[in-house]
Amino acid sequence: MAKWEENVRKVVPYTPGEQPNQPGMIKLNTNENPYPPSPMVEKVLHEFNTDKLRLYPDPTNGSLVYALAECYNVKPSQVFVGVGSDDVLALCFLTFFNSKKPILFPDITYSFYDVWADLFRIPYEDQPLDENMCIRKEDYMKENGGVIFANPNAPTGVAMELSEIEEIEASTPEVICIVDEAYIDFGGTSALPLIEKYDNLLVVQTFSKSRAMAGSRIGYVFGNERLIQYLNDVKYSFNSYTMDQVTLATGVAAIRDDAYFKETLNRVIATRERMKKELGELGFTMPDSKSNFLFISHPQVPAKYLLDELRKRNIFVRYFAKPRIDNMLRVSIGTDDEMDRFLACVKEIIASA
Ligand SMILES: *Cc1c(COP(=O)(O)O)cnc(C)c1O
Repeated sequence: MAKWEENVRKVVPYTPGEQPNQPGMIKLNTNENPYPPSPMVEKVLHEFNTDKLRLYPDPTNGSLVYALAECYNVKPSQVFVGVGSDDVLALCFLTFFNSKKPILFPDITYSFYDVWADLFRIPYEDQPLDENMCIRKEDYMKENGGVIFANPNAPTGVAMELSEIEEIEASTPEVICIVDEAYIDFGGTSALPLIEKYDNLLVVQTFSKSRAMAGSRIGYVFGNERLIQYLNDVKYSFNSYTMDQVTLATGVAAIRDDAYFKETLNRVIATRERMKKELGELGFTMPDSKSNFLFISHPQVPAKYLLDELRKRNIFVRYFAKPRIDNMLRVSIGTDDEMDRFLACVKEIIASA
């Protein structure tokens, strides 16, 4: 090892789901929306005046902050926008998790949390989900340096009752509690109304799943205005111009098209419910998902085998080689056509296994 390597910040990076690009593939591995973004997004792109690119964007991301505040009925001073919720979450970790006590999050959850904790040298303790893959609220009601969990959780899809979230929130007034609501629009109950009552609560959401704009990288967080101010202080100490002009304009257009948003959401939800039934009939078990994916397991056919066989048929799903979940597959909800082809392949694989 070279001498200079002693002082390198070494981290084990997060592994994102792969982004294959095969003709005719069915991509059900990273929870993207199968439908295009709002047609208003295309219109804005089409009419975009490129002279705008000469200038730096508004460092406050004002237009998008205002559009979000209007849509969610909060004050602009309660909103912070970043480059995907990954950016927003990383900034939250950096800003708010500075205790010597460990932060708490579930053992089975979004696998970026422990990566940020390691990156920023934040001590953490993971808390096991129960045998039904549910978060046990009691685990978060002890001394800690902060709390973060996803609701609905990933990769399980399981949602918590708002009353349980409030109990956790109420029991941890000395630390910041972050609820990662990447999938909330698909069926959970948002903790957003609680930000008026608890000044230590942050609610993070994203355009990547429910608004079909993973490629644009827009995430946002709601919280008490002092929390938002602290986040802005850190952001301006790191990179003032996080969002580009094009993304700001398309983001505003997407937020304003509520009718299209609801329509595509309902389609994904209907397909998800149909898939629960059809996969159940094939013998699969799964937690009750309120998200845009299902976390499935078959009593006879190993998950890894299914993964490989599906891949041979140009269908991509997600597998985690981790204790407790290494016989499960996370399958994003695609269009009805895609899911029918997926089902047909699954039937064929089960029959010949
Ligand atoms: C997808 C996802 C995110 C990150 O989404 P962005 O694309 O960065 O907005 C954050 N948390 C969870 C639980 C997710 O599944």
